[in-house]
Amino acid sequence: MIYKEHPNVGAIVHIHAWIDDVEATEVNYPCGTLQLAEAVAHLVRNADDPSRAIVGLKNHGLTITGRDLDDIFERIDGRVKTQVPML
Ligand SMILES: [Zn+2]
Repeated sequence: MIYKEHPNVGAIVHIHAWIDDVEATEVNYPCGTLQLAEAVAHLVRNADDPSRAIVGLKNHGLTITGRDLDDIFERIDGRVKTQVPML
């Protein structure tokens, strides 16, 4: 969904870790469900720059878009918490 909607997204990383103060889904959708994919795609769509978004999946982790993998890893370096907050 993200690649289709945002052709300038060249890479997407999904990690089971956290960065404070990110927009996150309100519901802890089960992994692999269409509802989770749609909720994440919605948050990416509404980000300031969808091609460089960091989106939280409640009680799960992050989905991060970028121009390429280096662009993503440079932006998250030193910011990632290995513990996902459980809400
Ligand atoms: Zn996951």
